[in-house]
Amino acid sequence: MDFGGKVVVITGAGSGIGEACVREFAYRNAAVVMVDSKASTADRTIWELRERGASIEYLQADVSSRAEVERLIPEVISRLGGIDVLVNNAGIQRYGSATTVTEEEWDEVLNVNLKSAFLMSKYVIPEMIKRGGGAIVMTGSVQSLTAQRNSVHYVVSKHGILGLTRSIALDYGNQNIRANCVLPGAIDTPMLRWAASLDSHPEKVLAECDRLHIRGKMGRPEEVARVIVFLASDLASFVTGAAFAVDGGLLVPAGGMAFQEAGPGTSKA
Ligand code: NAD
Repeated sequence: MDFGGKVVVITGAGSGIGEACVREFAYRNAAVVMVDSKASTADRTIWELRERGASIEYLQADVSSRAEVERLIPEVISRLGGIDVLVNNAGIQRYGSATTVTEEEWDEVLNVNLKSAFLMSKYVIPEMIKRGGGAIVMTGSVQSLTAQRNSVHYVVSKHGILGLTRSIALDYGNQNIRANCVLPGAIDTPMLRWAASLDSHPEKVLAECDRLHIRGKMGRPEEVARVIVFLASDLASFVTGAAFAVDGGLLVPAGGMAFQEAGPGTSKA
């Protein structure tokens, strides 16, 4: 999986899974463009990778804004000459149900989690076609296939990411563009720690996140990033329109872990 000579653009690259992608692609010789709405929180990663000779650019942009994406892509092209891989990873987590979420909250989550991936793809795909093809990987969620209580806008945005992945795979496959999606379970990132901090017992939430997975531990950002790298690489040349669970087996038990553990044959006696 060598990305020498390839340009990889990663959104939401300043933290968590996106930051881990920066490392994993840079270790494999990619020129990496980090895009994040915040001023860099990943200075240490950037410094370390540049010390090792990696090509890393950090561009601040809100990828849910058409104006900012329109400005961003020509800037990437003028600095690096083209784009070969796009990782649509930026996302936010919010909570609420169909009756409690406000229109503004709905729009915020759908814009950041879904419209951003549409906008980035819209402006990057023509650049990939100029290079003879490319690979897009989206960060969905196990909630691309299932629903979590009290997260209606997040769940809808992640279901949409899967539809966007499949549509792009179908519409641009004949131009040598592959699109795939990873579906992470609970991953130990600042987003997950923030979500846990909303509870009066964050440590119990984190323990529950561990327990949901077959191995009894939630995922690490690099465990998702390595699958993203694989899907972007030529090793995955026959993989497109696919959704890869990277969830430590979270989706395996019918009815969820909690239900299964309460069932017959699970007594520890
Ligand atoms: P994180 O909060 O650690 O990182 C997300 C990054 O996205 C942040 O640096 C943030 O500044 C950036 N971002 C947010 N809005 C943006 C915007 N409009 N434009 C550009 N950048 C923006 O979160 P994470 O856990 O690493 O999540 C990354 C992705 O993985 C998200 O799409 C999330 O929904 C998904 N995911 C996370 C988990 C998990 O358990 N952590 C599980 C499933 C899916």
